[in-house]
Amino acid sequence: MDAVGAPAHPEPLSGLIEGETVRELLGDPLSRWRRGERTWPLGRVRLLVPTLPSKIVCVGRNYVEHAAEFSNPVPKEPLLFLKPPSSLIGPEDPIVLTPLSQNVQHEAELAVVMGRTCRLLADGEDIRPYVLGFTCVNDVTARDLQRSDGQWTRSKSFDTFCPLGPFIETELDLAKSSVAAYVNGERRQHAPLTDMVFSVDVIIRHISSVMTLLPGDVIATGTPAGVGPLHAGDTVEVVVDGIGTLRNPVVAPSK
Ligand code: ZN
Repeated sequence: MDAVGAPAHPEPLSGLIEGETVRELLGDPLSRWRRGERTWPLGRVRLLVPTLPSKIVCVGRNYVEHAAEFSNPVPKEPLLFLKPPSSLIGPEDPIVLTPLSQNVQHEAELAVVMGRTCRLLADGEDIRPYVLGFTCVNDVTARDLQRSDGQWTRSKSFDTFCPLGPFIETELDLAKSSVAAYVNGERRQHAPLTDMVFSVDVIIRHISSVMTLLPGDVIATGTPAGVGPLHAGDTVEVVVDGIGTLRNPVVAPSK
């Protein structure tokens, strides 16, 4: 049956974006996929989180001006922390504020999605075969809890605090791209990816010297200056040039 124009498929599927059309992918979407026959208009499907990682590894203070806005020194090597996969949401899903924090903030970041198992890379070994592609991530953070806790797990780990998407771009020119955050249409953060203190290459090498990165794992590469609060009723967007826009509404905690 020709499924073009049919209602959104009730079962989650992997798809390939072809202009304004989504084509189903058959097989393993991370490696051995092939094009299916069925297609849907992009506007008629609900985009879900584009990967289900075993872990989300994040890099702190990876832009000089963001470190400076909190009077923090720039680290001498990538500063790592984790967000739990249970914090993930997809495009258009609501970020739910928590009554435990009075200062929840956006952090627009480039995310790397791993395509192959990666550990202990040899010096000079090319990282590209290990990377599936790139997407947008919002490393939502309860800034007051981050300060009061003295470490970052709670502040970064609330359910819905990791919007990811809208899809994985397999061909992104990092040298020509930039990352930005918009709140209610107003730009709050913007920096070229070349402003990163540690490059994607250095970050992957560093993480893989500590832990095995598995296919589908996500690396959040740090946020530029301009982080700020989110309030119920806001709409926050993370835009990475060459990928697209990750948009999420912000809602009050449910009673
Ligand atoms: Zn961050």
